[in-house]
Amino acid sequence: MAYIQGNTGEWEMVIGLEVHAQIISNSKLFSGAATEFGAAPNAQVSLVDAGFPGMLPVINEICIEQAVRTGLGLKAEINMTSVFDRKNYFYADLPNGYQISQFTQPIVGKGEILLDLADGSTQTVGITRLHLEQDAGKSMHDQSPNETYVDLNRAGVALMEIVSEPDMRSGEEAGAYLKKLRAILRYLETCDGNMEEGSMRCDVNLSMRRKGVTTLGTRCEIKNVNSIRFVQQAIEFEAVRQVEILEAGGEIKQETRLWDTTKGETRSMRSKEDAHDYRYFPDPDLLPLVLDPKMVADIKAHLPELPDDKRARFISEYGLKPYDASVLVAEKPSAEFFEKVAKGRDGKLAANWVTGDFFGALNKLGKTIETSPLSADALGGLIDLISDNTISGRIAKDVFEEMLSSGKAAAQIVEEKGLRQVTDTGAIEKSIDEILAANPDKVAEYKSGKDKLFGFFVGQIMKSTGGKANPAMLNDLLKKKLLA
Ligand code: ADP
Ligand code: MG
Repeated sequence: MAYIQGNTGEWEMVIGLEVHAQIISNSKLFSGAATEFGAAPNAQVSLVDAGFPGMLPVINEICIEQAVRTGLGLKAEINMTSVFDRKNYFYADLPNGYQISQFTQPIVGKGEILLDLADGSTQTVGITRLHLEQDAGKSMHDQSPNETYVDLNRAGVALMEIVSEPDMRSGEEAGAYLKKLRAILRYLETCDGNMEEGSMRCDVNLSMRRKGVTTLGTRCEIKNVNSIRFVQQAIEFEAVRQVEILEAGGEIKQETRLWDTTKGETRSMRSKEDAHDYRYFPDPDLLPLVLDPKMVADIKAHLPELPDDKRARFISEYGLKPYDASVLVAEKPSAEFFEKVAKGRDGKLAANWVTGDFFGALNKLGKTIETSPLSADALGGLIDLISDNTISGRIAKDVFEEMLSSGKAAAQIVEEKGLRQVTDTGAIEKSIDEILAANPDKVAEYKSGKDKLFGFFVGQIMKSTGGKANPAMLNDLLKKKLLA
């Protein structure tokens, strides 16, 4: 747990996150209008979405199933009865003058998320609730110098608002939470998790308290931060801002702030409204939502293997280190790629190659698993050559580079370039004898106790064999020779 050092002592961050996740569905929460991203403005608006008088909302069953699926993926209670409420406020992009949301009786109650931290440890963060609500439209201020336009394509699109307990204590933990939540949503295929396109948006709630204090301080909320990196930066900035105020004897005003990405600071937007400001009341157009137990059971029975289970299986089945397993399961495509490489091979070796050289190369080339120049089979072929001692791990690195640039198979490169490892004792011994004979002074020093010279001999002999001597055999033989 990280504390912040102030002038008068240490401070602890308390962070709770609200995430708005757009549900993957073809049509909106209460209308048949399409939800596809990038359509021309107002091309996907039904009369319900535009708030025409007399229009009635009709619930989209797919959205309900998606919320239940997400709830189950978050190991949360599913509320068999929930209620839709009107949250009243005025805004140009909200034609109805209210948003249909859920307030006192959300569809999903308490759950949890397991964070995978960089040191390999895990930590549980509580989920307070998940409720369904409509998205608002979008005001466009940049289309005309003196007018604002409204695009209602997004109005009425189904969102899940996922609220965490104030269980996080650092920017790193908040980042780990978002990554894990996004992974779960993507595994479940209930939200694409794309923060740049706004299909996952995060509000950060943060308060500070002195180390050792257990009650909560007054929080500020930073609205709609649209990348994990920005969330972490906003937290770092906001924590220092609050500590400075508190140490100067001031008070934190509960307010809504925004993160200015160019200035790298949070700025006050408005004082925080409370629930009663919204005059919530049950939407008279909608009956309470009562779930069919069979539907819930059915979704539960067909849940995919989720990141935590996959991680546990990777650890037990392939003997991976917890951190490597977390890295591999963080995205479904990397987990699938790894399993293809590891199938029938040494799992640890496969994990080292996938998370090390392979991810490194993708990074350098600006590629993803989907656009990778190297298939899982091709990488597997390289690993086979290491496992059966055809090449050493050292030579494998060169072969790997050559595979990337030429697209050739590992075995072909090894044959063409004559890179087969020398496992012939006679040949290795011959090289050892030559090097020892050429360095009598060093041999004498070694024998008088300068152990470090062993590495020097290994280096020289490797060089003389073009890096092809089998390292284990070379070590054994060299030791024997030097003892003689
Ligand atoms: P709203 O922001 O809509 O009023 P809530 O009261 O449910 O909603 O709180 C929203 C978020 O703020 C939750 O994630 C919660 O964990 C977090 N939170 C509440 N109090 C604090 C606090 N004192 N410090 C930090 N986070 C807090
Ligand atoms: Mg809030």
